[in-house]
Amino acid sequence: MAAVFRLEPGDRYNQTLAANIHPSDWINPLPTRRYNMVVIGGGTAGLVTAADAAGLGASVALVEKTLMGGDCLNFGCVPSKALVRAARAAAEMRDADVYGIETVDVKVDFGKVMERMRRLRAQLSAKDSASRFQYELGVDVFIGEARFIGADAVEVGGQTLRFRKACIATGARAAAPPINGLAQAGYLTNETVFSLTELPRRVAVLGAGPVGCELSQTLRRFGAEVTLIERGPHILPREDEEAARLVERAIVRDGVRLLTKATVKRVEGCGGEKVLTLDQSGKLAELVVDEILVGMGRLPNVTGLGLEKAGVEYDEVRGIKVDDRMRTSNRRIFAAGDVASRFKFTHMSDATARIVIRNALFFGRDRMSALTVPWCTYTDPEVGHVGLNEVEARERGIAVTTFVQKFRDVDRAVLDGEVSGFVKVLVRQGGDEIIGATIVARHAGEMLSELTLAIARGVGLGALATVIHPYPSQAEEIKKIADAFNRTRLTPRIKRLFSTWFSLRR
Ligand SMILES: Cc1cc2nc3c(=O)[nH]c(=O)nc-3n(C[C@H](O)[C@H](O)[C@H](O)COP(=O)(O)OP(=O)(O)OC[C@H]3O[C@@H](n4cnc5c(N)ncnc54)[C@H](O)[C@@H]3O)c2cc1C
Repeated sequence: MAAVFRLEPGDRYNQTLAANIHPSDWINPLPTRRYNMVVIGGGTAGLVTAADAAGLGASVALVEKTLMGGDCLNFGCVPSKALVRAARAAAEMRDADVYGIETVDVKVDFGKVMERMRRLRAQLSAKDSASRFQYELGVDVFIGEARFIGADAVEVGGQTLRFRKACIATGARAAAPPINGLAQAGYLTNETVFSLTELPRRVAVLGAGPVGCELSQTLRRFGAEVTLIERGPHILPREDEEAARLVERAIVRDGVRLLTKATVKRVEGCGGEKVLTLDQSGKLAELVVDEILVGMGRLPNVTGLGLEKAGVEYDEVRGIKVDDRMRTSNRRIFAAGDVASRFKFTHMSDATARIVIRNALFFGRDRMSALTVPWCTYTDPEVGHVGLNEVEARERGIAVTTFVQKFRDVDRAVLDGEVSGFVKVLVRQGGDEIIGATIVARHAGEMLSELTLAIARGVGLGALATVIHPYPSQAEEIKKIADAFNRTRLTPRIKRLFSTWFSLRR
């Protein structure tokens, strides 16, 4: 039986979405005697594993219990980034006077914004559709809940799928924080917030990680009164502190009320309103809102999978236990994506799925620890990060030299009016190996790949100065930081040698 799922409102866009990713008239195929690969979960990790394996000629079954496309398409990256873009348009109109353009009273039609998101999501869903995977890519698609019934077999809807290899790609879900009265009062998560058709007037967002920050700024720019509540001393706790503080100032400037070092003690539902009792650094206060959005913590989907029967070890918090080659405690079974990785990003679901393909189906020796992992938080400005930050480098005993270049020194950033950001690059002391980098900029995500490539392919910072960057572009910032690095190589001794050489040539 396929699980129950929510796809609201039931307009034509969501109908198209459902027809693609959970067709109501879908008839599961008859399983073959044994598959080369059975994939459980049709999110990014599962789709990439299934498509690549089938593309290479393997016989593949893919089982998805609710919506193909998983979190990214339905409740994650895709809807959130559609809203982030609309919110930026509103902010640009609001701030247009800095360009000499008369600002107008910006009115956000939230219903239309959400409709645009649903239209684009439905459009993108064709790529993840059950029929594309079955009829174009040659994957046997089963809609239903899978569970292991042995070390080499999975059961779905009364049918048994036998496998030579399997991949668990069941993803993660929002963790419900243990707050008194929260469940009774009701709250939104990433699985329900994108179904809203009306903008709540007052919203409390719990947790200032990437999801909490992106959605706080977005809802505020649409006109909601947003209070962002964070237990720690600053937002984006995983990021470089300087970067986090810069984003913090930007979202506060947008009008988000930020409460740091604050926790929610209890919640009470009261005639449509929700009353939160807050503890901020020991002081109690009340906050009345219309909606609460929980944006903290993700838990791996490991229960109900029959993992014990398959001999697959797991942890309720950290997920499926895998070795560096993404193999579980059952040699036939691998895992990919959020269920088995601390890096819960779509591109990491893709990357771990590729490791599984090579190691499970061939004699690959690919290792998770060899990956260079970038990520980006799509606030405005964005924060892009790759490799280690200063704290992590210190913890690992790696001595680094830090180079920082501010955007106010880059012509294009000045012309764009986007000067409040920086690029920070950490280089191993005494050499030019890049250990990590952080970019805070409006398009940090687009700029990050140059540094990711440099780290992944061992290109030193000095070499980036020899790369010609088009003028004027904000990416010139990276060339400038490489120039700054090269200048540090000009020691007084080398400078003296140069002076002597030039004096001889006069
Ligand atoms: C609001 C939000 C915004 C995000 N934005 C970004 C972003 O901008 N960039 C980025 O890189 N990442 C982003 N992420 C993270 C990204 O969405 C996830 O890392 C990614 O979707 C994980 O993919 P996955 O395949 O591992 O798991 P999922 O997408 O969760 O897929 C797992 C699938 O397995 C299915 N399943 C579970 N159990 C069973 C079973 N027993 N039988 C059959 N099927 C089962 C589920 O129904 C689900 O469809 C965001 C997340 C959120 C919540």
